[in-house]
Amino acid sequence: MTEVKRYEMFVNGEFVDAATDEYVASIDPTTGEPWYETPDAGAADVDRAVRAARAALEDPAWRDLSPSRRGHILRRVGDLLGEQAERLARIESRDNGKVLREVAGQMAALPEQWEYFAGWPDKLYGSVVPTVGSRHNYLLREPVGVAAAIVPWNSPLTIAVTKMAPALAAGNAVVVKPSEHTAASLLEFVPLLTEAGVPPGVVNVVTGLGPTAGEALVTHPGVDLISLTGGPATGRHIAHRAADRLVRTILELGGKSPNIVFADADPERAAAGIAAGIFAAAGQTCVAGARCFLHEDVYDDVLDRVAARAASIKLGNPLDEETEMGPLAFAGHMERVLGMVERGRAEGAVVRAGGVRVATEPLARGYFVEPTILEGVDNQMTIAREEVFGPVLSVLRFRDEAEVVRQANDTPFGLAAGVWTSDLSRAHRVARDLDAANVWINTYRRLSPVSAFGGFKESGYGKEGGHAAMLEYTREKNVWIELEEDGGG
Ligand code: NAD
Repeated sequence: MTEVKRYEMFVNGEFVDAATDEYVASIDPTTGEPWYETPDAGAADVDRAVRAARAALEDPAWRDLSPSRRGHILRRVGDLLGEQAERLARIESRDNGKVLREVAGQMAALPEQWEYFAGWPDKLYGSVVPTVGSRHNYLLREPVGVAAAIVPWNSPLTIAVTKMAPALAAGNAVVVKPSEHTAASLLEFVPLLTEAGVPPGVVNVVTGLGPTAGEALVTHPGVDLISLTGGPATGRHIAHRAADRLVRTILELGGKSPNIVFADADPERAAAGIAAGIFAAAGQTCVAGARCFLHEDVYDDVLDRVAARAASIKLGNPLDEETEMGPLAFAGHMERVLGMVERGRAEGAVVRAGGVRVATEPLARGYFVEPTILEGVDNQMTIAREEVFGPVLSVLRFRDEAEVVRQANDTPFGLAAGVWTSDLSRAHRVARDLDAANVWINTYRRLSPVSAFGGFKESGYGKEGGHAAMLEYTREKNVWIELEEDGGG
């Protein structure tokens, strides 16, 4: 039995004892054993954090900081994070089971994220409106206020930074609530903010469950904006809560993304893209290419290649260098994933590969599911409509372009899509016709802090990344001035 570490909440620049006596255990998904716990923050704890954020907004140490200085501090955060990236990656990899190689890659990219947003504060300004006569009219771009950032377990620190960096660049204060399953990397990171010069209270972290800590945060009257990355049910719930107070929301939700291979595609490249699109992170990514559409002429060839790749994936401890796929993040999630496979089978899908929990020691103790391929899937089956968020690929056959675009779009979601083709016109045509907010052609899962990311339909609304993120985290104020003494009215 390993020692169970206890984390506290981060409020006003320091770790503080929570008022609550309730703690949530985080389970190591490789061993099934608890390894740390966090407070399940109640209303009083959340109130303390939101008050700290509100006070920080008013504090000259943050409010009156020159934009260039704010940028300098954010750049410094990125530098410090870079120095700690390896340590943080090991913690996060152990926490959510994603292989170290992948988490390390994500962590190594985070300084760039801070660097990008560090460039914004002194380049973000309003505009003068060309009015006529004696009235001068201009627009000011201001921070929104206190932003609540609610984060899922699949890429905890990356997603938290995706929200924190633009929010701080715009001059807001933030209260972050990480997932109850994976709070460790964020809690290990936040002291670096203080070290970089971010004033106390500008970033606070409350931990705990959705219905307790999360609910207290999204209903708190001191919160001006809610940015959630999570599942569609949570998104819908939070949108209702936000509507009660007419609070601005950014919702980055789930997906059921199509990955389409046309007959003219390079089969090996396409197979690699299909396999990586669903088996990277054990399928626990919002943009997982979960519905694979193969043209009938290349169906057998590409599927054989994808199946060969699936069979060669080495499962194991995510911290081992040679591991290619780790466990699912927690027991309940694994059970849901296996339940979805069963449901697919019951509705007529045929298991081509995997479909079961790994039963051999030592992996049998963890939450490992074999890379799974389901054939004979119909687009109306539950397995093709609901997000699985696991290593489960549904394969569908198609005959022509119009038909595959129609099927690809026939989903409640609209997050991402992949297109594999060597026909330039087709690539652009299909990209135009797909009802997905992110389209990748002859590649998959490319993301950059410079580029706006978001969803359509039930995948949510609002953008993260790029200039668009700065607009999300700011508000525009319209100012009119009468220049003539006898004007006005
Ligand atoms: P989840 O919706 O269960 O939880 C997300 C966060 O919301 C957690 O911190 C949780 O505690 C909190 N929460 C839950 N109920 C709440 C409530 N009533 N009030 C306030 N907060 C509440 O999602 P998850 O299982 O942690 O993550 C997986 C989901 O996230 C998938 O659907 C995935 O597609 C989605 N996701 C989307 C993106 C994207 O950018 N679009 C990225 C990663 C993950």
